[in-house]
Formats: sequence, C-alpha cells, structure tokens
Amino acid sequence: MQEQADSGAETPLRIGVAGLGNVGATLVQIIQRDGEELTRKLGRQIVVTAVCARSRSRDRGIDTSELAWFDDPVALAKSDKIDLFVELIGGEDGPALAAVSAALELGRPVVTANKALLARHGVALTRIAENADTQLGFEAAVAGGIPVIKTLREGLGSARVARVYGIMNGTCNYILSRMGTEGISFADCLADAQKLGYAEADPTFDVQGFDTAHKLAILSSLCFGCEIAPDEIFVEGITTISQADIKVADDLGYKIKLLGIAQRNADGIEQRVHPTMVPKASSIAGVDGVMNAVALETDHVAQLLLAGPGAGGPPTASSVLSDILDIARGTHVPPLGVPSEELTPYRQASMRAHEGGYYIRLNVRDVPGAFASIASCMGAAGISLESVIQRPDLRVTEPGLAGTDTRTVVLLTHSTLEQQVRDALAQIEGDGFTAGTPQMIRIEQF
Ligand code: NAP
Repeated sequence: MQEQADSGAETPLRIGVAGLGNVGATLVQIIQRDGEELTRKLGRQIVVTAVCARSRSRDRGIDTSELAWFDDPVALAKSDKIDLFVELIGGEDGPALAAVSAALELGRPVVTANKALLARHGVALTRIAENADTQLGFEAAVAGGIPVIKTLREGLGSARVARVYGIMNGTCNYILSRMGTEGISFADCLADAQKLGYAEADPTFDVQGFDTAHKLAILSSLCFGCEIAPDEIFVEGITTISQADIKVADDLGYKIKLLGIAQRNADGIEQRVHPTMVPKASSIAGVDGVMNAVALETDHVAQLLLAGPGAGGPPTASSVLSDILDIARGTHVPPLGVPSEELTPYRQASMRAHEGGYYIRLNVRDVPGAFASIASCMGAAGISLESVIQRPDLRVTEPGLAGTDTRTVVLLTHSTLEQQVRDALAQIEGDGFTAGTPQMIRIEQF
C-alpha cells in the first residue's frame, strides 16, 4: 500500500452517486448527516454534489434539491462536477457497466457495491483502473457490511490463504435457519422471507446459489491471485432441502448452511457453492438468520471468522463509505490485491474429484431386496458407510413420491470421492428400488 503524494487534502472530495435506492439513498443520507465528523476524521471535506436515478420525483427521504441531477448515469460519471463516482444501480451490464467504465477511463475513482458487475467484468474494469492510474473500490460487493475485501487486500496482505468459505447470502441463511428453528417447509420460509423483504419477488438468483457464486468468485481472485470466473463454479441451491434433511442433520449434530467454499488443490481451485452439513459446534454454524460470515484460513492465522450483516441499506452504505474514505485519504492498492497482469488464469478443479463425507437420503420402496440392492451399489462404487439410518417417521413430499409406499433412509459415508457417490446413486436409481430423487448433501468437518 502506498499513500499518494497529493491527495488534494485542502479541497472537498466531490461525490456523484448513481442509484438512489436502498443503498444509494442511505449513503447520501449518511454523508449529509455525518459530514462534519467525516471531515474531522479525514482532514478533508466529503460532499455529495450530484446524483442520478430514474425517477426524479420519488420521495427517497433525502434532500436532493441542492444537488445536480442527472438522468443518465454515464453523463454523471463523466461530469466535471464530481471527483469520485459511486455506482449503486446494480446489474452486470447496461448502465452500471457503461458508467463505471466511463468514469475509470477518465481516471476518476469509482466505488461500487455491484457484485454481479464485479464478478462478470472485474478483471477488465481493474485493467482500465490501472491503466488510468485510478482506484476501484468494491468492499460492499461481498458480504455487505463485513469488511472482508479490505481484510484480504490489506490486513492479510502477506499471508497465503489456504481456504475461504462462508455464508454470503442472507436470504438462504434466513430460510435454512427458520426451517431449523420452526420446522416449516422451504416454500413457507421463502414466502415469509418475501413478505419481510429479505427475498426478492424472483428469488431464483439467491436460492439457486448464483448470488453466492458471484461473491465467491470475487473472493477467490483476492485469495488465490486468479482471474474471476463465476461461470466455472460448481453451484447447487437450497430448493431441495426438506424438513427430513434438517431434522436428520440436527439429530446427527449438524446444521445445514448454504456455503461458498474455495480452496486450492492439486488440479486447480476447487470452488463450490452448495448446501453443506456443518457441525453444530463450529463457528459458522452459529451464524443464523440474515447474518453473513466469511472464514479465512491462512498459513499464519489458523482461522479468522468475520461475521455481520451481509445486506441492508446502512451496513452496505457503510462499506461503500469506507471505500470512499480510503480514496479520500489517497490509499492506493491494486483492486484485486495484485496488479491485474499478475493474475493467473483460472483453473477449476473437477467437482468429481472432491473428497469428503456425504449425507444421502433415499426414498426406499417397501419391497424385498431393496436394502440388499442399495448396499451392493454402495459396495460396488467402493463407498464405505459410516451409518445407515431408517426414518420411516420422516415423510418427504415431492412430485415423484405421490402414491408410493416408501421409507426415508439416510446413509452417511466416510470420506469418499464425489465421483464414487454419483456412480452409486446412478446405479441405485437405475435399480428401481427407490422413488423420487435421491438427496445428497456434502459434509464439512470445520
Ligand atoms: P435498488 O434499491 O433497486 O436501487 C437501484 C437504484 O438504481 C434506484 O434508485 C434506481 O432508480 C436506480 N436506477 C436503476 N436503473 C437506472 C438507470 N438506468 N439510470 C439511473 N438510475 C437507475 O438497489 P439497491 O438495493 O440499493 O442495490 C444497489 C447495488 O448495491 C446493487 O448492485 C446491489 O447488488 C448492491 N448491494 C445491495 C445490497 C442491499 O442490501 N440492498 C447489499 C449489497 C450490495 P429509481 O429509484 O428511480 O427507480
């Protein structure tokens, strides 16, 4: 990290904010409210001079009458009324990309909370920023109010990260936590999350794991010095998690969490997002509700767990402001931790080579020979079972089970290759002694 010789300390830093929704309006409000204190901390005044949104007439609870108004984010990004451009519109392309690119090309520093934009274009935008010798801050893009980017870029700058994992989607964590504490179904929890504003009207991006994958891709780049590659990540969402899974996990001493996990192994970088059974006693298991947490394991620090609010106007705006303060101070760091030309091409390790324990739940037909067939499939795939649990009391409802006479049976494996588990399940399904779709959840012993 180096301090720039001239940070313009005597002149106010003029900020343009594009996007005045949850995060943008809160940011403007905080800067307007706390202006004096920020000036005292920085020795330099920070002022919002210009803003942009779609609707000029919407009441946002902030006073914009003294600010220059722009209908076009790109025009704001290029305006000579600002020194720093904040993008809080969202979306991986469109106006967000156009405006951020325009500001960086002019050598104007940018702060954004936009994980989709970063995941898709982060490396290209970093190159533009470096070529123009300017800054790109995106603390708020991963885990909202938790300062994980700064921790990785600066706090742990000299350490080698061995593994990073975390709960990075509040919607999924809220749903899984409530399924656990209240015994209600995924669908009912999702409906409540939507009523409370924790889930979007279209929750696909969250519950299918893609939002977590975007954040994990950004973290992986910072942890392992590789390019950002969200499409390469193995992703499974939480939509198939049933009360039977939650209850059996609880009986066995586990909780189910949607985790993003990245670690380097011999084949490349193993990056995966999926429901994971974690021991109840682990730190990550204690992170419930809409809270997020990121665990960093390095050669110097065995484990660092950063936990806190992963979303919401004030926490997210606070992270945006933290980036603005760094830029105002003249702090200069490569956006992705190393200069972009040093980033290595990304190589995804095959998920089939993943090794670990597995929870497998089957709906076994109540017919002679069913158990013998299942045991034989597991044996043929070379899988050693830790336990077999019969839970006829736990009925699972899914379309393929209507009218069938089945028992819920859970198999726990010792450490096994994913390929072996997939082979065994394909064989079990083919033999016809089970109904519906087998459930498979990976176990981590954190
Ligand atoms: P939001 O409430 O939907 O607000 C988006 C804003 O962008 C609105 O003010 C909208 O204007 C404006 N906008 C949309 N299209 C525009 C266009 N073409 N030209 C000009 N303005 C346009 O979004 P948000 O929740 O504040 O999120 C903003 C960013 O922060 C996103 O990238 C999001 O992923 C990220 N983020 C959000 C959170 C969170 O908790 N909300 C957490 C972490 C990161 P109108 O108001 O006039 O419609």
